[in-house]
Amino acid sequence: MTVTTRFAPSPNAPLHLGHAYAAIVAHDLARARGGQFLLRIEDIDGVRSRAELIPEVLADLAWLGLAWDGPVVFQSRRLAGYAAAGERLKAMGLLYSCQCSRAEILSAARDSGPDGPLYPGTCRARQVDPVGAAWRLDMARAVALAGPLEWTDESAGAQIARPELFGDVVLLRKDAPASYHLAATLDDAADGVTLVTRGRDLYQATHVHRLLQALLGLPVPTWHHHDLLIEGDGRKLAKRRGSPSLADRRKAGENGRALAENLRTRRFPAGISLGVGLMEEP
Ligand code: GLU
Repeated sequence: MTVTTRFAPSPNAPLHLGHAYAAIVAHDLARARGGQFLLRIEDIDGVRSRAELIPEVLADLAWLGLAWDGPVVFQSRRLAGYAAAGERLKAMGLLYSCQCSRAEILSAARDSGPDGPLYPGTCRARQVDPVGAAWRLDMARAVALAGPLEWTDESAGAQIARPELFGDVVLLRKDAPASYHLAATLDDAADGVTLVTRGRDLYQATHVHRLLQALLGLPVPTWHHHDLLIEGDGRKLAKRRGSPSLADRRKAGENGRALAENLRTRRFPAGISLGVGLMEEP
């Protein structure tokens, strides 16, 4: 079976070197194995997504010498599919509506998970007005229904899925049609992605994605979580700390293919290295 990988940026901010590295990993793994490399624009965050950045993303990839296969996929054109999956999970009795504000969750949360404070379950047993609500997965029920699950990372090997680390995650957001977890899982299946490549910062998210695959009867890919480009203080690269974006470099006349070759051969700009990047943003 040939491999299909994808690069799936969110056009919420200009791409930076870390994105270039992620795109190169996905592209090169596909090319080395005679497979397909897809491009998916994750543009459904109604607050943060910026349409004017999408042409910049395409230009950045072309500048780096990375050609994708087939048409660009836009999550914003797939909203009906996310809603249908949400309805299916509701019909299975696995979602409940939640009107809690971020402040209420912060003050009531006792534990924290990979994405921050764990939802304390306040709305689970309530009748909450579903209009304008978020919909959360009843994690205990979902895990009980799916049973034990495993997934495989190419380097780390077989992993026991531990989606319960995330508690009752939001799958249908108040401010966006679907959460990252639901949309990305559905899209990887719809596009026939067989090798999900992404940074180690999303390693734990795979536990939730594996559970969603089981609940929705989706095919199970293999994962390849790569190291992240980090700054001297161990944090992930971030535009707001002053590293120039790919578009800045491109518009300044830098050679994108040479930059890509340097990233491939791990010749990074001063102060940048490859690491696990587990330190959180302040
Ligand atoms: N859109 C996500 C990001 O930009 C990537 C998601 C993924 O690769 O699964 O961080």
